[in-house]
Amino acid sequence: MYVNCEVVGCKARVPQELEAEKRCVLHFTLELEQACMLMRRETAVGACTRERFSEMRQYIVEHGAQLARLATGGTGLTDETKARVLSTFLTLMNSRENIERIAARQDAERRIAG
Ligand SMILES: [Zn+2]
Repeated sequence: MYVNCEVVGCKARVPQELEAEKRCVLHFTLELEQACMLMRRETAVGACTRERFSEMRQYIVEHGAQLARLATGGTGLTDETKARVLSTFLTLMNSRENIERIAARQDAERRIAG
């Protein structure tokens, strides 16, 4: 059974690894980039709870694993798409670093305050 991308205006075929998301590779990576951008903004504007940091970590880990399965799963990807996947991995890695840096800073501030 073929699944098509559910993003409006996109009729691209969805690879097997992304059938649950109903997203083509392009839109899956775009949504990950967008989510990382929003997380970065969220951590920049104010304090996040430890639970929220945990959610962000989990999001990054799960989607990174999914992206890895897609990238190594034998789906024929163009060079352009491979480059996009690598770029999205870099965004995920940098987002994780950003979260750890800010979480550590907030922990230190809580220790000083408390
Ligand atoms: Zn699409």
